[in-house]
Amino acid sequence: MANCDNKLPCPCTADCPRHGKCCACVAHHRDHNEGVPGCFFSKEAEATYDRSIANLARDHGLKVVE
Ligand code: SF4
Repeated sequence: MANCDNKLPCPCTADCPRHGKCCACVAHHRDHNEGVPGCFFSKEAEATYDRSIANLARDHGLKVVE
């Protein structure tokens, strides 16, 4: 990802070379079906490593309808 030069503090606790490289992080999760990147979650929800949309919704107080 040559044009990925944004570098921000990253709250994700996974051991990963993409920390702080947001566009590389999002592209990796999209292309590898790895769910939502860790920075979308609260600290508590991030620590569960459940990167599903359902967990994201719960974390943000949204009701999941299945
Ligand atoms: S969210 Fe995924 S790609 Fe981003 S830093 Fe964490 S493990 Fe790496």
